[in-house]
Amino acid sequence: MMKSLITPLVTNDDGIYAPGILALTAALEREDLNPMVLAPDRERSSVGHAITLTRPLRVWSAIEGVYPMSIRAYCCDGTPSDCVVLGLDELVPEATWVLSGINNGPNLGDDLTYSGTVSAAMEGVILGRRAVAVSLDCHRDHERLHYEAAGEIVVRLLRRVIQSSLPSGVLLNVNIPNRPLAEMKGVMVTRQGKREYADKVTPLTDPFGRASYWVAGRPEDDLVEGSDVWAVAHGYVSVTPIHMDMTHYDSMMYLRDDGIEKETF
Ligand code: MN
Repeated sequence: MMKSLITPLVTNDDGIYAPGILALTAALEREDLNPMVLAPDRERSSVGHAITLTRPLRVWSAIEGVYPMSIRAYCCDGTPSDCVVLGLDELVPEATWVLSGINNGPNLGDDLTYSGTVSAAMEGVILGRRAVAVSLDCHRDHERLHYEAAGEIVVRLLRRVIQSSLPSGVLLNVNIPNRPLAEMKGVMVTRQGKREYADKVTPLTDPFGRASYWVAGRPEDDLVEGSDVWAVAHGYVSVTPIHMDMTHYDSMMYLRDDGIEKETF
């Protein structure tokens, strides 16, 4: 049933040979979903929604043997969002879904606008497709990465949402705890929470004695019940519906009440 309803374009921001996208593609292939892969040729995490305007892009086939023969897999020297534009405009215009991931690490709270994974799904929505971004809540100190379990969860969620009445323009941001299937607590529909970064800039000295700076930071979560950060911290698969409208509607009223529109020129 799914097969007739979905032709997925699969991308990510960790690069075409990352274990997460391989696990996602394998899970889709097991369901006979005929995924088509177009992903960056290298890691492009945290590039956000960037599109490459200043040079042409090249597309080539993935190294033979990494993906099953039955899967069309290409890489590109652009960003995740470049891959979605190229994929939907040139390579698979028939694709009705964009699946992005499975990202190595969570995309929660304030991560969303930095995330290449989520931005690629957003680009799919902008281009009129349905889209899901998927991330594994894994951390450096985790010994095992449960991408296979996450792939299985994506397939199960897709079965449910394919025929759902989600409005167009909405993507799903899915974050999956890094644990075996049997240890997942369940699925929770969540809202975007608060994840801020402390100590964003680390000053360093390069080998020539010059100052340099590493921008990264340590995440600090505000564990409010019902938020995405809370759900994965408590072992739930977090599903957040996201849309592009960043307008803060209450503030429109405040600005008008303050008389800003009375300004004359
Ligand atoms: Mn990434």
